[in-house]
Amino acid sequence: MTIPYVTLADPRYGEPVQVAPLVRRVIAKNPSKFTYHGTGTYIIGEGEVAVIDPGPISDSHRDALAAALEGERVTAILVTHCHSDHSPLAAWLHERTGAPTVAFGPHRLNTHWVEDDTPDPPDEEEKAAAAAAEAAGEAKVEESLDLAFEPDIRVADGEVAAAGPGWTLRAIHTPGHTSNHLCFWLEEQRALFTGDHIMGWSTTVITPPDGDMRNYFTSLQRVKDLDPAVLWPTHGAPVTDAQHFIDEFVQHRRDREAGVLAAVRAGTTMIPEMVRQLYVDVNEKLHKAAGRSVLAHLIKLVDDGLVRFEGTQPGVTTPYFPA
Ligand SMILES: [Zn+2]
Repeated sequence: MTIPYVTLADPRYGEPVQVAPLVRRVIAKNPSKFTYHGTGTYIIGEGEVAVIDPGPISDSHRDALAAALEGERVTAILVTHCHSDHSPLAAWLHERTGAPTVAFGPHRLNTHWVEDDTPDPPDEEEKAAAAAAEAAGEAKVEESLDLAFEPDIRVADGEVAAAGPGWTLRAIHTPGHTSNHLCFWLEEQRALFTGDHIMGWSTTVITPPDGDMRNYFTSLQRVKDLDPAVLWPTHGAPVTDAQHFIDEFVQHRRDREAGVLAAVRAGTTMIPEMVRQLYVDVNEKLHKAAGRSVLAHLIKLVDDGLVRFEGTQPGVTTPYFPA
C-alpha cells in the first residue's frame, strides 16, 4: 500500500485561479519543506465571500489578495489553525474589511510541557531563500506558531462558520496536527478544505504536545465519514479520491506505529536511532520532524499500555522500553 500523492504542476503565484465553481485560490510564494509550493488561500463565493487561511506575512501575498478581493464583500475570515503560514495575514484582512476572524480558538499553550515546539533550524537552501525573501520584504519560510492569533468568533465542530449566496461552510474539528485544527465543509459541493490535516503531497507533521496522534487517527476517520467528493488542502493539489487516499494515509500511520513498536521491542530505546531505522528513505533534513512524529506514536503507544518510558514525561530524549 502506498499513498497516492498528487502534485501541483504550476502554483501561478499571486494569481486568483478559479479551481471550482465559487472557489478561487491564490498561492503565496512561501515554498518550503513544510509548505510545498506555498500557502494556498481560498476565496469562497462571489460578491459575498469568505477567505480561508489568509496566509503568511508577505507583501506580495497581501497585495495579491487585495487585488483578488477587489469588488468583493468579505464576510468572514476562516482560519484552519494558527501556524505562521496560515493565520498571520488574518489580522490585516480583518483590519481592511472589518470581517470577523473565525476559528476553533487560539493556539493552546501547554505550559507543563518542557520540550520546545520550535521547528528545525533552516538548512542552507532555506537560509538562502529566507535571506532573499527578507531582502524582498517577503515571508519567512519555516512553519512556526502564530501565538498572537485570537479569533473574533470561535466555532465548534458542526457549526456553520460562514455562509453566503450559494455556499455554506461548516466547521469540522480535526485535532491532530494541532489541537485547534478545523477543516471547512462546503456543503453544496461536498468539498472539504483540509488545511494541514490532509495534504495531497505529503504526510502531516504531528508535533507533540499540541499535535496528538490518537486525535489524528480519529480526525482522519471523521473526514472519511463525511465522504467528501474532494479535499482542498492549504498546500498543493486537490485530492479527488478521498476515501482511498485516507485509507492509505491511515495505513501508512499504522505501519509506522507498528514499526516504532517493533523497534522498541527489539531493544531500540532512543528516538534518533528509531528515526535512522524507520526513515531510511527520508531526507535527513526532515529527521528532526520525523523524530517528533515518532514521539507522537510513542505517546500513543504509552497510552495504549504497550510501551513505557523512563522519566517524568515522554520526550525526544527519553528512553523507551516495551511495557
Ligand atoms: Zn500547520
